[in-house]
Amino acid sequence: EFWQLGIEAMGSDNPVLDSEIIWMLNMIFQRLGFRNLTLLVNSIGCLKCRKAFIKEFKKYLKPKAGGLCGDCRKRLGKNPLRIFDCKVAGCRETAKNGPKISEYLCDSCNTHFAGVTGSLSRLSVNFRISDSLVRGFDYYTKTVFEIVSNDLDSAQNALGGGGRYDNLIAQFGGPDMPAIGFAVGIDRTVMLMKELGIGYGIDTEKIKVYIVSMDNDFAGYMLEVLKLLRDSGISCDINYTSRSMKAEIKKAEKLDFNIIAFLGEDEFKNQSVTLKNLKDFKQYNIRKKEAVEKIFEIAGRI
Ligand SMILES: [Zn+2]
Ligand SMILES: [Zn+2]
Repeated sequence: EFWQLGIEAMGSDNPVLDSEIIWMLNMIFQRLGFRNLTLLVNSIGCLKCRKAFIKEFKKYLKPKAGGLCGDCRKRLGKNPLRIFDCKVAGCRETAKNGPKISEYLCDSCNTHFAGVTGSLSRLSVNFRISDSLVRGFDYYTKTVFEIVSNDLDSAQNALGGGGRYDNLIAQFGGPDMPAIGFAVGIDRTVMLMKELGIGYGIDTEKIKVYIVSMDNDFAGYMLEVLKLLRDSGISCDINYTSRSMKAEIKKAEKLDFNIIAFLGEDEFKNQSVTLKNLKDFKQYNIRKKEAVEKIFEIAGRI
């Protein structure tokens, strides 16, 4: 049996939607407890600008055809983009060293992609733009994305991915309707979770974070962190009347908190948070935007 989980959003080509969908894919794996992930995004343009790229790409590949595998020599004529996904490392390398699709995007595709990456940054999602990410399907347009595990061999390290397919529904006789979606292979994900010793997700209800500051000047910053954590489903509370760190730790333990998020002057200045795991008393100073991820990581060990 082969199980797949998919999310599709139809009817809008707004780049903010792309970022929401990509964020969702990222969140699934973070919540499951995966670490060592890289989120890759790229734009492969619309049918118009991609045509220009493919022309140049073919021109670049032709004299190198002898060095490609048999499959890729066939792909060269029909769908050269698939060479980026070849199982043979040498083929992928050759494709990577060629012209970059980003240099061929039309204005409209460029603006769209800037909208996607801008929104991802707003959502504090860590991602990497990968010029060689094409996800070899002919029907994708503009945004493509993939989440890869750095614990897997690079030829087959994708856990899930997807892209925008603005022309596909019309091609199948439906209305002219833009859409974007992704798919996750459940079997592969579960297999990898077993291999890496990942439990079945983090029970967010187990996590309780106590936000503490000794200085009332940072109450506003505390509130920002509170919102960030609660928005991510982490239950947390602020102590508005802090006396001493020692007293706070005692109180946190008494109230069954697992983690203290300490915010002081340095933290405010660097827009960071100092997290203390109350189980092993290990302490981590991390950027605010990475706090949620770190809390999930700590929670995996609670
Ligand atoms: Zn375009
Ligand atoms: Zn090949």
